[in-house]
Amino acid sequence: MTLLQLDHVQRVFNPNTSHPVAALKDITFSVNQGEYVAIMGESGAGKSTLLNIIATLDQASSGAAILNGQDLGRLNKDDAARYRREHLGFVFQHFNLLDSLSNRDNIYLPLVLTRCDPAEMDRRVTPLAHRLRIAKVIDRFPAEISGGQQQRVAIARALITQPDLLLADEPTGALDSNTSNEILDLFADVNHQGQTILMVTHSAAAASHAQRTLFIKDGRIFHELFRGDLAMTD
Ligand code: ADP
Ligand code: ADP
Repeated sequence: MTLLQLDHVQRVFNPNTSHPVAALKDITFSVNQGEYVAIMGESGAGKSTLLNIIATLDQASSGAAILNGQDLGRLNKDDAARYRREHLGFVFQHFNLLDSLSNRDNIYLPLVLTRCDPAEMDRRVTPLAHRLRIAKVIDRFPAEISGGQQQRVAIARALITQPDLLLADEPTGALDSNTSNEILDLFADVNHQGQTILMVTHSAAAASHAQRTLFIKDGRIFHELFRGDLAMTD
């Protein structure tokens, strides 16, 4: 079943000026429920622009982005914010944890914003913390744990709302290669348990963990690889 569908998406910045920038020229692809897809490209290729449209932070100039039947271009600002909270999980390069909150409260934050019952938060966090191997550090603060642990806490924060789609923006960009591999293995585990993942990266090593990689350049997808194809070239 298709979860995400982009249909001839274009995004032009500064359209009515002498310097319009066509950041996305013609992007068509779909992601099925349960898939783990990477989008790979060099700096300036259009990755952030694409991710922002899927994240309901920006809208296509033309074409459509549809997630779980919802046309994202039809959401106004308030609806988009609610949609984001209820349906999407985010993992960033720099973790973006709040230093003033314990790891546990960082993980609870998206649920607090949806006025979730505290008992339900506790019920959800225990298995998640075990799965992500952060149970022992959950009542410490972000500054007291390693970068790899901080990213695990950030992944827990992204998953606690049980999002339709987990969006990861260069999630291993701030980690050494051993820790990166641990985090990438974790994404694969999370995916095997049914979570749909879309990861944006300029790292071939990171992309090679996904089931499928779309290569983007100059606002267009120019190639698609399945993990089986990559393994043969490793
Ligand atoms: P990537 O994430 O792959 O590095 P971006 O999506 O950030 O690429 O950028 C794609 C192109 O769009 C680049 O040429 C960039 O300069 C341009 N761009 C991105 N955001 C804006 C903006 N807000 N205004 C004008 N141009 C932009
Ligand atoms: P990266 O995007 O490379 O993973 P960061 O998360 O630190 O690294 O963000 C890089 C840039 O993107 C920063 O300038 C930040 O302000 C911006 N940014 C990150 N997350 C968001 C977001 N959810 N909404 C808007 N801008 C964001």
